[in-house]
Amino acid sequence: MKEKLTFYYGSMAGGKTTRIFQMLYVLENNDQQVLVIKSAKDTKGNDEIINRQQEKRKVDILLHPNEKLLSEENIEKILVCNHIIVDEAQFLDPKQVEELWVINKKLNVGVTCFGLRSNFKADYFPGSARLFAMADEVKMIETNALCSCGSPAVFNARQIDGKFAMDGEEIEIDGKNKRITYQPLCGECFYNKVYCKDKIKKYKNK
Ligand SMILES: [Zn+2]
Repeated sequence: MKEKLTFYYGSMAGGKTTRIFQMLYVLENNDQQVLVIKSAKDTKGNDEIINRQQEKRKVDILLHPNEKLLSEENIEKILVCNHIIVDEAQFLDPKQVEELWVINKKLNVGVTCFGLRSNFKADYFPGSARLFAMADEVKMIETNALCSCGSPAVFNARQIDGKFAMDGEEIEIDGKNKRITYQPLCGECFYNKVYCKDKIKKYKNK
């Protein structure tokens, strides 16, 4: 059987981690050796993945920016696994996504990545863009979060001290920076609450 590289994307609070735990449970109960990888840019939980039910799992590889996945240190773990699960895949470097693709194609190891589609400015994260371009299958997480209006959330809007913002660093981990929170929004609400206000602000500042 040909294994695939699959990218499941969603907005924040969209039940990604719960999906990961479900998948781990199924694979490991079928005697599959699963390698769990997370980007070190996600400083929440350090080297563990934690879902909202406080279930925990230590990751096998905490991948740092510019670090080679196919390193001597990692290769032995990769060679003995049947499946790789990646959490917070949006934070991977595009090169690291390519390495996952190479592992999948050359070693026929199934790779399933979970991550966000876009950042708070509604741009692709570099890792997600590479996954959209290279994955065999791209799927939206069906348990994705809802916007406050009840529509499915598409965007991850950032609030600083409770106000929507479209400026700032791409990565600000909520909880680490106490002023920052994120809100899942549908397209229409993102347009009205974030995009239009940002344009008005920029117009006024001219
Ligand atoms: Zn909405």
